[in-house]
Amino acid sequence: MHQSYSSDYKPKSVEKATLKRVMGTFRPYKSQVVSILVLVVASVVLGILPPFFLKEIIDKGLPHANLNLIANLSLITIAVTVGASVVTYWYGYLSVSIGQKIMRDLRRDLFSHLQGMSLRFFSNTRTGEIQSRLLNDVAGVQTVVSDVVANAISNIGIVVASLVAMFWLDWRLTLLSIGIIPFFAIVSSFVGNYARTVRRNVQQQVAELNSVMQETLSVSGILLTKAVGRRSLIQSKFGTENEKLVGWQVKQQMIQYFFFGVFRMIFSVTPALVYWFAGWIISKNPSSITIGTIVAFTGLQARMFFPLTGILSTQIEVKSAMGLFDRIFEYLDKPQDIQDSTESKDLEPSQVLGKVALQDVCFSYDPESEEPTIKSISFTAEPGQLVALVGPSGAGKTTIAYLVARLYDADSGSVTIDGLDVKSIKLESLERIVGAVTQETYLAHTTIKENLRFANPDATDEQIENATKAAAIYDYIAALPDGFETVVGERGYKLSGGEKQRMALARTILKNPRILILDEATSALDTASERIIQASLDKIMEGRTTFAIAHRLSTILSADQILVIENGRIVESGRHRELIEKNGLYARLYAEQFANDLSGQRLGSTLS
Ligand code: ATP
Repeated sequence: MHQSYSSDYKPKSVEKATLKRVMGTFRPYKSQVVSILVLVVASVVLGILPPFFLKEIIDKGLPHANLNLIANLSLITIAVTVGASVVTYWYGYLSVSIGQKIMRDLRRDLFSHLQGMSLRFFSNTRTGEIQSRLLNDVAGVQTVVSDVVANAISNIGIVVASLVAMFWLDWRLTLLSIGIIPFFAIVSSFVGNYARTVRRNVQQQVAELNSVMQETLSVSGILLTKAVGRRSLIQSKFGTENEKLVGWQVKQQMIQYFFFGVFRMIFSVTPALVYWFAGWIISKNPSSITIGTIVAFTGLQARMFFPLTGILSTQIEVKSAMGLFDRIFEYLDKPQDIQDSTESKDLEPSQVLGKVALQDVCFSYDPESEEPTIKSISFTAEPGQLVALVGPSGAGKTTIAYLVARLYDADSGSVTIDGLDVKSIKLESLERIVGAVTQETYLAHTTIKENLRFANPDATDEQIENATKAAAIYDYIAALPDGFETVVGERGYKLSGGEKQRMALARTILKNPRILILDEATSALDTASERIIQASLDKIMEGRTTFAIAHRLSTILSADQILVIENGRIVESGRHRELIEKNGLYARLYAEQFANDLSGQRLGSTLS
């Protein structure tokens, strides 16, 4: 949404802090910045000389037709100008490459910071917004980080050197020229502040459009649009956001037109004023100023005005880029609520027995909510046990599994693996120890083999084949014209739901985790496919601590313990027979779901 102008107000200290931080991004390139400085000074010095040669040509060469002097001065002028251009090109290259490297660093830092954010952040933030900050905002600061150092230094250098030279030529004309500078400063400061607000709003609006596109031009988005027949509604939403962008973009470009319009006017007027004033001086005292001085002076003045505009437009650029830096830093500063501590331990999966214990665990997705999602849950899964989590939809089964994998941290209580709190295990280790086949299978737009290898980059072709055989997907893949090299399409949409689930199973087999979470891992399989992979599932679960959610009946029947979850609590636990005898919720669910069909339905998932 739009930020209002007033909400965009930043106290000076905040602006300073942002600026300091932006300066910090140049730190790794200190030596190149120093080289730029040296080259800029050289180019300023070279650039200031030609008007003096011109003065000599006009005052001494031309009146006496001293061809030798004119030729020499002209050749030197050409050499100096070429030299200045080479030096300018050189520092231009250095500053552009520093700028690109800083953008690379920002993208890298932002990417790795966001990668470390928890599931909570991604559940609450739109993908389009994240992408926009990573790409558009970082790209938006490009001119500032690539041009500002060299341009600002060279512009300041040229202005200062020109002023000194102008004073040296004629102080009276110089005073007239600099009288205009405060006007420049006032206009650009006003325009700069406005530009910052406009720039931030443009980026916000780009992010907004990006989000709408991301949500609607993806396979799931199009499926949803077509399924509910809402094409015109989405078009009008896109149209509204698109229209808002037009408004801000027009403002942004008009700022530049206004700025350059005003300064072009001043450029044209000032030389006329100088000649007028010089004419007045000559009329009073003809010998106090030469024609060469006046020509050299206006040459220097013209040379100074462009850099002066540059300094002021740099100020506008910097101010408006600060808005983007704020957006980038805002994401960089977002705390990673789940991260390693200095004491976190590296743990090899082979060192792990797989005893999982939850002790008085409470958890809420919404910290403000009065009623936690998980309420004081305690249980222990011994190494290698199969634990079935059953219960009505929304009871909290997936959430419990997420807590074991530390995708969320418990608000209170502890989650331990082999007696070690999951918070004290390095996240990378934990990711290798716990493997999950989740409700939604994500496949990247690449080959089947690459998708499988993602779980284990070192897997041999043989291991991949064996894993797909165990997950009952080998025959399907082998029958494809391109076999394992088949590209599965955006998020795996070329595969059926059941095929995707079997791919996910194969991937987990390759990963070989000690603790396995099967969250409705076979919900999309038909009974026949389920039966085929049942034997391999049993094999996959062997020797691993497994949490099976809403699984097929045979899994539940063979579970070492069944935890019946209702409304975030364990209301019953035990083995199938004990629970049936108890005649409570489990017995009721069982009677509802399986009484007439013992062939392979799932307990829990169909209760939603
Ligand atoms: P199902 O069998 O339908 O998958 P479940 O028992 O696995 O259900 P959970 O997915 O654990 O249930 O959800 C438990 C509760 O937490 C539900 O009320 C759900 O709406 C809520 N919930 C789940 N994920 C989030 C989230 N990211 N943010 C906020 N609330 C959530």
